[in-house]
Amino acid sequence: MSVGLDLETLDFTLESISEFGRRELPDSVLIELDERDEFPEEIVRRMCGEDLGVQLIFVPEEHGGMGGGAVDVYRVCERMAALDLGVATSVLATFLGSDPIVVGGTPEQKERWMRRIAEEGVLMAYGATEPDAGSDLAALKTKAEPISENGTVVGYRLSGAKQWISNGGVAELSSVLALAPGGPSWFVIESGAEGFSHGEQEDKHGIRLSNTAALFLEDAYVDASGLVGGTEGQGLVQAQQVFGYTRLMVAAFGLGAGWAALDRAIPYSAERIQAGGPLSEKQGYTHKLIVPHAVRLEAARAAIEETAERIDAGEGSLNTEGAIAKYLASESGNAAADAAIQAHGGYGYTHEYMVEKIKRDVRITTIYEGTSEIMEMTIARDRWQQHLKTRGDHYHAAARDMEALGAEHPGIGAETTGLALHALAGVFETAREARLTRNQHVLLRLGQLAALAEGAAALARRAARAAAGELSPKASRRFDADPMATFCRVNAREVALAVATDGARWVAGSGDGGKEAAALSSRIGLAEIAAAQAGLLADMDAAADALYGREPQR
Ligand SMILES: Cc1cc2nc3c(=O)[nH]c(=O)nc-3n(C[C@H](O)[C@H](O)[C@H](O)COP(=O)(O)OP(=O)(O)OC[C@H]3O[C@@H](n4cnc5c(N)ncnc54)[C@H](O)[C@@H]3O)c2cc1C
Repeated sequence: MSVGLDLETLDFTLESISEFGRRELPDSVLIELDERDEFPEEIVRRMCGEDLGVQLIFVPEEHGGMGGGAVDVYRVCERMAALDLGVATSVLATFLGSDPIVVGGTPEQKERWMRRIAEEGVLMAYGATEPDAGSDLAALKTKAEPISENGTVVGYRLSGAKQWISNGGVAELSSVLALAPGGPSWFVIESGAEGFSHGEQEDKHGIRLSNTAALFLEDAYVDASGLVGGTEGQGLVQAQQVFGYTRLMVAAFGLGAGWAALDRAIPYSAERIQAGGPLSEKQGYTHKLIVPHAVRLEAARAAIEETAERIDAGEGSLNTEGAIAKYLASESGNAAADAAIQAHGGYGYTHEYMVEKIKRDVRITTIYEGTSEIMEMTIARDRWQQHLKTRGDHYHAAARDMEALGAEHPGIGAETTGLALHALAGVFETAREARLTRNQHVLLRLGQLAALAEGAAALARRAARAAAGELSPKASRRFDADPMATFCRVNAREVALAVATDGARWVAGSGDGGKEAAALSSRIGLAEIAAAQAGLLADMDAAADALYGREPQR
């Protein structure tokens, strides 16, 4: 069953966003707004209003929206991020702000607020973070004190402060997490409510086209009908319920911004002549500054797309997979933008060139909606449980799946991904035997390696589907099956080597004798992984040819 928009509507929406961007936000305007640290409120309101109606994607059909699914949301977020990450963040903030309502609101609350978003295009803010409660939201201090009349709670007085809130200074409605007697709960509060105010717009490193401000609640009154779901104590559960979905959105931001940077570096290097020829023909340039980043971004895309399709298929909120997608896409988007500055040389270091702004913008994706370190922890804890539950077979089973895929689809490097997954199982098992995860750093490194290996597996599955002509209709068609297979082989080799060498590093480095290293070396298959590197340079040459749209050189 297809969920969300039909293909035609999705394509039309994506093209409308790009067309709106070309018309209203050309590079010169973006650079000027960034320089002036200005939130283009009128433009954002038009995007969330009759001009574009992009907010309708996030609003369920029964409340006047278009009811987009997770794949639609990822494709739209990627496109908006390619335009400007600050503007995209502003749209995301309304989506985030309304999330507690969508997952936990009563039918009346959903109709009341979601319809306002759909029809009036009101902007929302999502007020979770506090000055002393960021990654650890449970440490929140904002209080909600009930006010009773004749034994019935008729309203609440909220007091406390929220920090770094996107749209904080401009939203008509905010959802605010506060500690009620029954536990953390979401409240929806109107701007202008007595005792509710906001701080100045923050002077940020990047996403300067978004409004970020603190919120202050000084005995701010919220009617009892503003308690989301009507029951206290559901707040953290509601926040958890949407993470798989919202982290996919930020993942799509990292993907879109990372590609926006490479999409500038690639044509630049085809024109820029140094040492008698274009930079695009210098292998030491392309194979360091372009190819690895394109490959990692496409692995991240595979993780995003697969997770989105599974969410749309009703497999639940997939929080760990969402965390993997966010981690891979935000880290690779950030690295790609950094490389794009290097690829532009001195020009890239100036405000005049968009890559400089993109690099500052994309940096936020490794911080908000859960930092990279929190993603590593989330992934590691879940996969550690899987390892224990299956008595060490979790990643061996995933490796066997890759071997089977490789047998069916030779040429996509799935067998090398299989080696990476077997090695990962070996690293987990050695860490278990020697109780190495008592070191938090080891646990988080396991999270990183698990994300890399699962991203490689997702890319292999995607490349296999592309080769068989079986990509879903709404999947990105940015690359054909052949380049995708090439990217997949390059990525599989990189990931397998990273699992083996980093695994050895942290296992041996945290153990207290040679025995962990000895146990591990018999498990990671380093010789096979080294042998699998054969052909890497030729594949990178082919990847560069695909990225520059040229006939194979060699
Ligand atoms: C521009 C911007 C927009 C934002 N928009 C919103 C918004 O709309 N709504 C909202 O609610 N919030 C928003 N945030 C807040 C954002 O989600 C938080 O900044 C983020 O969750 C991190 O919290 P923190 O800043 O308190 O950092 P901290 O939690 O203090 O973390 C600091 C560092 O320590 C690391 N760390 C934290 N805990 C651990 C641990 N247990 N083990 C190891 N390392 C750890 C982190 O990874 C990080 O590197 C926004 C932030 C920014 C900068």
